[in-house]
Amino acid sequence: MNWQERILSAEEMKPYLDAANADHLAAQVAALIAQQKHDWPQLHEGYAALAQIDTKRLLVDGSTVIVQHNPKRVRSTAAAVDQSSIAARQCFLCPENLPAAERGIAYEDEFVILCNPYPVLDNHLVIAHRHHLEQKIEGRIETLLGLTGELGEAYFVLYNGAECGASAPDHFHLQALSREGLPIAASLQESEPLTETACGVCEDLQRGNFALFTINDAGRSVIVLRGASRVELAAWLYATIEGLAKATHKTEPLMNLVAYCERGVYTVLLFPRARHRPDCFFAEGEARLVISPGAVDMAGILVVPEHAHYEKLDAEMVAAIFSQVSLPSAYVEEVVGEVCEA
Ligand SMILES: [Zn+2]
Repeated sequence: MNWQERILSAEEMKPYLDAANADHLAAQVAALIAQQKHDWPQLHEGYAALAQIDTKRLLVDGSTVIVQHNPKRVRSTAAAVDQSSIAARQCFLCPENLPAAERGIAYEDEFVILCNPYPVLDNHLVIAHRHHLEQKIEGRIETLLGLTGELGEAYFVLYNGAECGASAPDHFHLQALSREGLPIAASLQESEPLTETACGVCEDLQRGNFALFTINDAGRSVIVLRGASRVELAAWLYATIEGLAKATHKTEPLMNLVAYCERGVYTVLLFPRARHRPDCFFAEGEARLVISPGAVDMAGILVVPEHAHYEKLDAEMVAAIFSQVSLPSAYVEEVVGEVCEA
């Protein structure tokens, strides 16, 4: 099947679509999810499994982290993402390899929105490029922000860099998920409320309501970019990414992005990463914990496929994992300072 055959027709959408809001992307996506839960048994099962999972809350240096025991995520968490393993497998985001019942809706000219059959949160979407192009953010920030605005306040949109969380590093994709209860958004709202436009890094960035600052939260380094203008935000985001790329000698720095929109203001969280997997992933015996942080984990929902590992994980281990995979905050502040001065 090609993409054209995968895309739901207006007639197929109609029984699921809220007619009053048919022009809104959020309503179209809700119809897609409802149709797919009805017609694609694997998705139905995925959501039934999500409803049953165990979670526990940990307080890590004053910040809430939700640990999720999600056995269905083992494929993704433990996936071999080295180049030869990727080259040897069939791409699961190319239309000819999707399950027969998997369908989508078109987004812009170049993308198709699909449902993730192994959801981590409610309404877990994958936004796949129509072509098999590598995972690279250059030229795609505008799409990430546009999608964030169009999906509205109920969602957040994420990007996992090719080397830190993307299980298809060879096929460009974004993801979107229900934002309800996203720990880092709640934590940020407490420490840096939306009305607060002060910049923690340099004063002269306080133009309009744009803000750029860094926080260190529960062992994580986070660069926060916030503003109402997508154009301005995109320009600063590209400059920050370029600064990190230069400092770490990479074409694209290791990173995860999380974006959401509230009251017309966009917040982008950039997690600059030192590496993909923490020490415990490679440890043997009792010390081994199968944990591979991507954007969702960095945002405070730590996905753990193995039950014994879920039971064992405590706040101290979470702080150690975050600090091992994050670029050190002093280093990040220096890079951001240089970006601001340029
Ligand atoms: Zn592909």
